[in-house]
Amino acid sequence: GAGPHQTDVTIIGAGPCGLFAVFELGLLDLKCHLVDILDRPGGQCAELYPEKPIYDIPAVPVCTGQELTDRLMEQVAPFSPVFHLSQMAEKLEKLEDGTWRLTTDTGTVIDSKVIVIAAGGGSFVPKKPPIPGIDAYEGSSVFYAVRKMEQFRGKKLIVAGGGDSALDWVLNLQPLAESVTLVHRRDEFRAAPDSVNKMRALVAEKKMTLEIAQISGLEGENGQLTGVVFKDKERGEWSVPCDMLLPFYGLTMKLGPVAEFGLNLEQNLIPVDTEKFETSTSGIFAIGDINTYPGKLKLILSGFHEAALMSQAAVRIVHPDKKIRFQYTTSSTDLQQKLGVA
Ligand code: FAD
Repeated sequence: GAGPHQTDVTIIGAGPCGLFAVFELGLLDLKCHLVDILDRPGGQCAELYPEKPIYDIPAVPVCTGQELTDRLMEQVAPFSPVFHLSQMAEKLEKLEDGTWRLTTDTGTVIDSKVIVIAAGGGSFVPKKPPIPGIDAYEGSSVFYAVRKMEQFRGKKLIVAGGGDSALDWVLNLQPLAESVTLVHRRDEFRAAPDSVNKMRALVAEKKMTLEIAQISGLEGENGQLTGVVFKDKERGEWSVPCDMLLPFYGLTMKLGPVAEFGLNLEQNLIPVDTEKFETSTSGIFAIGDINTYPGKLKLILSGFHEAALMSQAAVRIVHPDKKIRFQYTTSSTDLQQKLGVA
């Protein structure tokens, strides 16, 4: 089978700061792998405010969170970063030769000399619905994310929520499920109008069911659901047969496994120096919203600056004997070749 991935730098978090780090490291010939629990790059910009305008990116008078992400992806493309998405960076250990080994919750293993923690406000984790006893079904009948669609083939599914995730998964899973019920507390949806229209068309064709109700209970045993109890003011409580429940009630940020990496922490932030943005552990750097130092501002532009200085220190760890020359992208043919523009 495939052994551990080998790379120069492993970046935890594919938010704007993790992405820009790929660029700065790339100019110094360092290759990167990135891990993010989200299913796409962009961190807070992509998850929390994709359509909101940002006005304080230097020389970009206005761009949305998603546009910033798209431009960063374009900027790092010449360096072919490898993304490991929809997985949590869970365990960090030091091998005998000083290499760091990062393992994710889906079993991806990455070995590198340098770790960059660009974990922002922490990992995005699903908000759990307040349904009594739900814990007992998680991972077997209750799923907060879809990692493999096949798992849901031929099943009676209930999807809960009114945002884009809920609507997207209703539309994607409906063709392969035995039945799909969407449950939402009101007949108004925050999702893209096109998705809502498609969902309503499926309901009109009787290919799925829409219930305006709340979930009040679960039925089943040994982690296997058999039904979900709905309730509303007029109809009271009733039960709907169900094999699998998919609640999509949004995401919240939690520091998560990074807290277990053995680093010094100050109020859930990682203290760093302002020369290299290195943590209390040599070879582990922290940039962006996750770090703290005197005068820290949680702005994207600060994280970009931190990425540039971190990279100068990282290359000295990966290539201790290499002479590093300071160069401008405007005038260095060498840098322009790396960017594919010369
Ligand atoms: P994040 O964007 O938080 O990304 C971190 C990523 O790391 C996340 O995707 C997370 O899932 C992942 N992660 C963390 N831990 C793990 C783990 N263990 N395993 C796997 N993945 C993990 N800033 C500005 O400069 N200008 C603005 O106008 C502005 N407006 C904002 C508006 C809103 C509504 C919000 C919420 C923020 C705004 N910000 C703004 C702040 C800006 O978004 C953050 O400073 C920026 O996103 C920080 O980038 P980052 O890369 O450090 O972290």
